[in-house]
Amino acid sequence: MRQKFIFITGGVVSSLGKGIASASIGALLEAKGLSVTLVKLDPYINVDPGTMNPFQHGEVFVTDDGTETDLDLGHYERFTHSVSSKRNNFTTGQIYDAVIAKERRGEYLGGTVQVIPHITDEIKRRILDVDEGIDIALVEIGGTVGDIESLPFLEAIRQLRNDLGKENTLFVHLTLVPFIKAADEMKTKPTQHSVKELREIGIQPDILLCRTERFLSQGMKDKIALFCNVEKDAVITAKDLDVIYEVPLLYNEEGLDEKITGMLNIWAKKPDLSQWQKIVDTIKNPKKQVDIAVVGKYVKLIDSYKSLNESLVHGGIANDCKVNIHYVDSEELENGPTAHFDDVDGILVPGGFGDRGIEGKINAIGHARTNKMPYFGLCLGMQLAVIEIGRNLAGLKGAHSTEFDEGTACPLIYLIEEWTDRDNKTQKRDRFSNKGGTMRLGAYPCKVKAGSLAFKAYNQDLIHERHRHRYEFNMTYREALEKCGMMITGISPDGAFVEIIELKGHPWFLACQFHPEFKSKPLMPHPLFRDFIKASLKYRQEKQKWKKR
Ligand code: GLN
Repeated sequence: MRQKFIFITGGVVSSLGKGIASASIGALLEAKGLSVTLVKLDPYINVDPGTMNPFQHGEVFVTDDGTETDLDLGHYERFTHSVSSKRNNFTTGQIYDAVIAKERRGEYLGGTVQVIPHITDEIKRRILDVDEGIDIALVEIGGTVGDIESLPFLEAIRQLRNDLGKENTLFVHLTLVPFIKAADEMKTKPTQHSVKELREIGIQPDILLCRTERFLSQGMKDKIALFCNVEKDAVITAKDLDVIYEVPLLYNEEGLDEKITGMLNIWAKKPDLSQWQKIVDTIKNPKKQVDIAVVGKYVKLIDSYKSLNESLVHGGIANDCKVNIHYVDSEELENGPTAHFDDVDGILVPGGFGDRGIEGKINAIGHARTNKMPYFGLCLGMQLAVIEIGRNLAGLKGAHSTEFDEGTACPLIYLIEEWTDRDNKTQKRDRFSNKGGTMRLGAYPCKVKAGSLAFKAYNQDLIHERHRHRYEFNMTYREALEKCGMMITGISPDGAFVEIIELKGHPWFLACQFHPEFKSKPLMPHPLFRDFIKASLKYRQEKQKWKKR
């Protein structure tokens, strides 16, 4: 079968959930036995999304190959089996950067370099550069139709329809059909205008996904079809749902997958959605529940911990349990936790940068350690666990990370100045290195020690997990820390990097230098999240027994 392309655009307002819509279409097509890949085109000028402020932009998602990408790629990987790489996300800035570099090298032979065709050609080249052998590439265009920024992307996909033909390309447009209380009516006008805007630039959408609060009647659908020039059964209700993993099921009920394969002239079996149905049922009717404190800096912006939140939900699915997440602002804990953790069953310190709230996080870890409450540390959460243990168990006064105290007498966490990266390149870094360019990024191997909690979880002695950090455990202090009960249970095969630590005599205290949250999926919950939730459930049951006494 020839590779086919589905382009997903968004209209009316931002935040309609185009990423989840694209990912859900991917899940549906996979359930029909087709292979998919997903690409996100971001209309901003930044060349390196890794340096963008998570307050503004949400989480930076890291792929196996170490690309720092948009958080939508996280949805793509969670909903499908596709594995993203640097080819799956690019920004306007990267396109211009490439075109200008070519111009500087004289590749345009002195010709006038223009948006059409040079920028659009570069966009098309990258869209067409998807993995060979994949049946369908889903291409999500960031931004909202009508934005100045997304015009070159829209022009490029308009051209691609002519280049590849109607049976090989499909335009899906996500719009909003608001319910206006005063009129007690749903309104189709914003959708009409948004489609008009698309048609003005030469794109006639084939399918409309209408975000709504309630189901669209057939009459409504007919009206939208008439005004927007689409087939009646190509108007799909994309009703608001509490559980995002229900989206593929809803789309299927609305007939979306059949419409897509029909329009693309693909023969495919009926989708098998039983697994999706099962996880939705588990999320909606959990048998148990557990309360987890996430102690961080960006706690007010939940989008900056997107993958983490989802991974906790997945850990819950694996234990038939609802996970109530309590976000605790670490700055509130600087004088020690008070009542913050009275009602929780486990503490998690996620990754982070910058020194705000560091002492509060260390206090939270101390609380989990001394109260034998399950603790799960991710990246910075491991570095701070080492510092907590160093200061309070090993008696290493003033122990710190050089990230937060450059002149510390006891640098338990520090910058390794020269090291070899995953591409076998020698990397040099010091505190003056370029922001963004010097991190350990992407998947690295790790040997897991037999008999450890980590081994129990993974049941494998060699794992690959994704990284995004500059600082590392300082081997000079290995002995001092091991003497007081810290165990190194995950280490890089060359023995250079500590990847997982645990604590003797504690029921579940595990912290890792990598980010397991980037590899958890609802259909395949990550083993560390599964076991952290399991341990927290156990803690909860014991606490309840103890309270009854
Ligand atoms: N700031 C720490 C480092 O750069 C941890 C980073 C993280 O948690 N992702 O090493």
